[in-house]
Amino acid sequence: MEKNKKRWLIPAFIWTVFEAIAVTLWLAKDNLFYLLNFSYIGTAIALGLWLFSLKYKYARRVVQLLVGLYMLIYLGAICNENMQIEGFWYYLFTGVFEAATIHYAVAKIFGPLVFGRGWCGYACWTAMVLDFLPYKTPTNPRKKIGFIRYITFGLSFLFVAALFLANVGNLEHMMFWSFLIGNILYYAVGIILAFAFQDNRTFCKYICPITVFLKPMSYFALLRIRCDKEKCVSCGKCKSVCPMDVDITDNSRKRKNGTECIFCMDCVRSCPKNAL
Ligand code: SF4
Ligand code: SF4
Ligand code: SF4
Repeated sequence: MEKNKKRWLIPAFIWTVFEAIAVTLWLAKDNLFYLLNFSYIGTAIALGLWLFSLKYKYARRVVQLLVGLYMLIYLGAICNENMQIEGFWYYLFTGVFEAATIHYAVAKIFGPLVFGRGWCGYACWTAMVLDFLPYKTPTNPRKKIGFIRYITFGLSFLFVAALFLANVGNLEHMMFWSFLIGNILYYAVGIILAFAFQDNRTFCKYICPITVFLKPMSYFALLRIRCDKEKCVSCGKCKSVCPMDVDITDNSRKRKNGTECIFCMDCVRSCPKNAL
């Protein structure tokens, strides 16, 4: 009975958080889209967490595909919403608190205060593809090239600022094309780097500009994986399967690569002592 209760608790909590966001935005913006959009995403994530509690091996991948394809194909390609970081800058400059700005506020700026890098494990359409590649667990130590993310972040800002300064016409159209080209570029660079570094998540670790928001915010995340020191026998299995090199047995906020955890749950699944 207690086990059944636990099984429902986290999915129900996450679903409630998303429903609260969905209803708040629906009423505040008087737009039914927000209710449907966030309800869909929240339900998909809650479903994945529930499947995980049933020990279904591909639970996370199901959510990644449900949310990632919805955002990439429906919102991006069909509805012409640029959810890439350029779209965020664009809507910010135009002073419109819609689409990409709301998406960033919820998924990538304030949301991580609750669910950390959950976006990266369950919703990102770039990682949705990268996670199909063969190098699920890194074999080499981390490189000290994380500064590249600040360059890509700055370039994305400069690109949109230059469009505004140059008074380029039909910016909406431009944003649609930058979404398509940007995504193709992300996939190409991400796939090449994954093979070069033999690590599917190389793009996430060093290049992705969105981590400039995600990392500092997820430092304070409410939801975190903790290690029960009483049960842990220091076998190191959890660290050996982690795609993001997180020192998950350290419970402090300063744990090594702590702001990189994407909640993939591979460590939890692999722990022989149920210590996580
Ligand atoms: S780090 Fe960037 S590319 Fe990787 S999953 Fe997160 S948002 Fe997506
Ligand atoms: S796998 Fe479990 S027992 Fe082994 S080090 Fe990690 S938390 Fe401890
Ligand atoms: S294996 Fe564990 S610590 Fe590593 S990213 Fe996945 S959930 Fe986080």
